[in-house]
Amino acid sequence: MNKKFLKPLTQIQLILIVSAYLVVAGNYTFFTKVLEVIPPHGINLLYLASMPILLFIINVAFFTLLSSRYTTKPLLIFVLIVSASVSYFMNSYQVVIDRGMIRSALETNVHEALGLFNFKMLLYTFFLGIVPAWLVYKAPVVYRPWKTELWAKLKTLGILLLVTGILAYFTGGFYASFFREHRPLKNYTNPYYWIKSTVSYVKHSLRRSGPKKLRVLGTDARVIHREGEKPKLIVYVVGEATRWDHFGLNGYTRDTTPKLAKTEGVVNFNDFRSCGTLTAHSVPCMFSIDGRSRYNRDREEHSENLMDVLAHTGAIDLLWRDNNSDPKGVMKRLGYVDFMSPENNPVCDSECRDEGMLKNLEGFLDRNVTHDKLLVLHQMGSHGPEYYKRYTKEFFRYKPVCRSNELGSCTRDEVVNAYDNTVLHTDAFLHDVIDLLKKYEKRYQVALVYVADHGESLGEHGIYLHGLPYMIAPEAQKHVAAVMWFGPGFKHRGEDLNVTALQRLARSKRFSQDNLFSTILGLLDVNTSVYDPKMDILNASE
Ligand SMILES: [Zn+2]
Repeated sequence: MNKKFLKPLTQIQLILIVSAYLVVAGNYTFFTKVLEVIPPHGINLLYLASMPILLFIINVAFFTLLSSRYTTKPLLIFVLIVSASVSYFMNSYQVVIDRGMIRSALETNVHEALGLFNFKMLLYTFFLGIVPAWLVYKAPVVYRPWKTELWAKLKTLGILLLVTGILAYFTGGFYASFFREHRPLKNYTNPYYWIKSTVSYVKHSLRRSGPKKLRVLGTDARVIHREGEKPKLIVYVVGEATRWDHFGLNGYTRDTTPKLAKTEGVVNFNDFRSCGTLTAHSVPCMFSIDGRSRYNRDREEHSENLMDVLAHTGAIDLLWRDNNSDPKGVMKRLGYVDFMSPENNPVCDSECRDEGMLKNLEGFLDRNVTHDKLLVLHQMGSHGPEYYKRYTKEFFRYKPVCRSNELGSCTRDEVVNAYDNTVLHTDAFLHDVIDLLKKYEKRYQVALVYVADHGESLGEHGIYLHGLPYMIAPEAQKHVAAVMWFGPGFKHRGEDLNVTALQRLARSKRFSQDNLFSTILGLLDVNTSVYDPKMDILNASE
């Protein structure tokens, strides 16, 4: 670019151009969704026309307030590039970039991040982000004396205020009801929403970083030992992204759970709800005393959880093996074993397999045989978007499968086929857990608890993966697969467990991850003030 042919721009002019560009290039999903609820005719045309103007005003105000000789260009360049990749994720997966998503993105390991990286994303970022960012970098800008610049900024902000006033006069009533009825739509505005989420994330992290007192829970916890009862061995499998309606046991047209279907005594839950729609939200919540309505990540960071309460008994051996990412803070005080690398996991090919978590357990299971034991296995399960990588050849039953992490580029059948193969794999894994437990049922009272952390969208209405805010998330992301299995002679709080009655209950009654805290305490016969018998699934009755 030859500077001689270009008239230098002022900062404000550059901001106006980039702001308008961002409205047009970054809000495809937002406008599509708006058009779904506001048909374009009559007075609606005025309202619809006001939306890009409003977005433009927000962009200009934001950039103007932060503009200076040293900040204007870097800020514009940064926002252009990030907004382009945000566009990719919103347009391809219909995800929104809320605070939880920012946290997930920043806490994601390299392995997971690479799983999302693909050619289409590169194209998006290059053409929608890097090219305009390069033009901004090259654009000749004159920086006038500070008084002149200040005056120009004040003038700009004044005009924005005036236009906002006029818009408010004509469309204020419309926006009041629009935002009441379609509140979640604003989550699709770009770059407004991701910037707001980032600021909110930073604010929360700062608030968290100060020293805070730990909320101690259940220091009174004791195991009730009963004469003649064998100790307990519970395996608690924390599943990954298994939605209820693709789990064969729930009447799915495909038999994706052939092995569990043939296993006697499986208790299958027909209506089990997740706490959140993201791993980083659901997993800590599954171990929290708070339950979905009171659960708060910041408080949980400074709180003990189910595992700590069990540790307070001093009588239960605890082991957490993780083949997903990490325990999301749950084992902060107790430690866990990473099974994502071949160092610990003996079953690895292109990636380490969930089955590896069942190897080399003799040390844990054969030691202290009078102790009760809880083994938590955090699965890789159906982790997306690369479902096709989650299973070995023997589970490659449904074909053809989507072999891209760009799910929108595959047919729905291909996505569903790959996903269903991962469910077949989880079925076999759970069956292996039961086999292992059977080997130990002479020595222990054994039980399996399996609950998926959240569900998964597989392209219904163009929505993929998971992580939508709970309020607007589809059923597929919240209704999860959950099963239990008990060895013979299992006693619950001293009484023989009636598995048939429990199976009946599991078919008809709604449960949620809120029940897990007290259910696990109940299974392990722990007496403590934080145990709520009403929440223990095994106490429920019709
Ligand atoms: Zn998850």
